[in-house]
Amino acid sequence: MKHKNIFDPEYQDQSISGKVVIGLERISEVFKTLLWDKAKVLGISPIQIQLLVFIHNHKESLCNVSHLAKEFNITKPTVSDAVRALDKKGYLIKDYSSSDNRSYSIQLSQSGKQLVEEAADFITPLQGQIEYLDKKQLEALFETLSTLIYKLNRSGILQVQRTCYGCKFYQKEKQGHYCNLMEKPLSTSEIRLDCPEFEKP
Ligand code: SF4
Repeated sequence: MKHKNIFDPEYQDQSISGKVVIGLERISEVFKTLLWDKAKVLGISPIQIQLLVFIHNHKESLCNVSHLAKEFNITKPTVSDAVRALDKKGYLIKDYSSSDNRSYSIQLSQSGKQLVEEAADFITPLQGQIEYLDKKQLEALFETLSTLIYKLNRSGILQVQRTCYGCKFYQKEKQGHYCNLMEKPLSTSEIRLDCPEFEKP
């Protein structure tokens, strides 16, 4: 039997899941394109932009070479190279204080913080299009995406996630969801994808 090839337009025509996968692939191209455009303007690489934006928005315990490698599905030497280049340009500070001498956590310098202000808007053209969707469409899309992200994490394809569905404080309720840390119910649109308080069960 002929193997189902999702990239074959004839097969796609009969498969809505195939079209969804191809749609997600197109959107991942948008991310790449927008990142590259911004990288050219700022004179740094796309992964350097991603690292700067991540470090700016996350707690110190996540800002080290090991975690960043997992977060972006790249090797530790690739992270170290990017960190070295950003450090050379004065955008980062390596903090050796909280661990042994070989490992360090990474913080942004003042000029790093200024660069992030310019860098983080790379995503605005995509966000602008998504904001055109009406509330119901947005909520349905978010529910689908958050469930998909959790399932991809459970199956081991997506190593890192910080969503409610995988958190030790999460509780499924008959009528929705509950956070045992904040001690309050969550509507589906209040489910977090990147929660600062997330903890693995
Ligand atoms: S702590 Fe955060 S991730 Fe965990 S259930 Fe509460 S809101 Fe969700």
